[in-house]
Amino acid sequence: MKYIYGPLKSRRLGLSLGISLTPYKICSFDCIYCQLGKTNHKTQDRSEYVLISEIIEELRLWLFNNITKKESMEFITMSGSGEPSLNSRMGDLIIQIKGLAHKPVAVITNASLMNLAGMRKELAHADLVIPSLDAANQDVFNKIDRPAAGIKVQDILDGLIAFRKEYTGQIWLEIMLIKGSNDSSAHIKLLQEAIERIKPDRIQLNSPVRVTTETNLACVEQKKLEEIKEIFGDRCEII
Ligand code: SF4
Repeated sequence: MKYIYGPLKSRRLGLSLGISLTPYKICSFDCIYCQLGKTNHKTQDRSEYVLISEIIEELRLWLFNNITKKESMEFITMSGSGEPSLNSRMGDLIIQIKGLAHKPVAVITNASLMNLAGMRKELAHADLVIPSLDAANQDVFNKIDRPAAGIKVQDILDGLIAFRKEYTGQIWLEIMLIKGSNDSSAHIKLLQEAIERIKPDRIQLNSPVRVTTETNLACVEQKKLEEIKEIFGDRCEII
């Protein structure tokens, strides 16, 4: 299989079949904590990087050969080896997958294109959207997510706020906390203010524990994660 992987079991999504909408590794960011390694094509240009007709054919075959696994699967998740929303036919793909597999679709996205009304409209076909937000100001954003030229964190925040108003499905906001980069009291306060405006259904805190290509990454200790969780309130969990 070229585009489909799993199904994988995770605490937050249960058993989920993954779909990659880009070749390795096309992304609008080059996050210092990325498990996939360096971004080799950093862009914010949308294109049909992978033909959705090929993804649908692969999925059709997988479903035909995995009837039992399909029954126990909770989500089909768009994530994979790059940023899924860079595929310009993501919306069509979500619609076709739901028609074919009759399963809820989740999208894990870095939210870099959330300011585009057309992209938000496509994303609204999903049942669950998991955007990441690691920074609430441009300096921290540049340091952690290393975005493609021209991407502004304020546009992402505005896009997330707009999406919440338009979208009736679940939004689980994921925040990756890096010791010494985005965990200061002042920055946590900015994130809290952003969260209050975005109004996600859940906030999921994470800190890098696995090895990446960056050697100087430090995770935030459990005690501090608990304190930040308290600040973000009832909807917040540590994953
Ligand atoms: S947005 Fe995701 S895929 Fe892209 S660099 Fe960051 S962690 Fe990696």
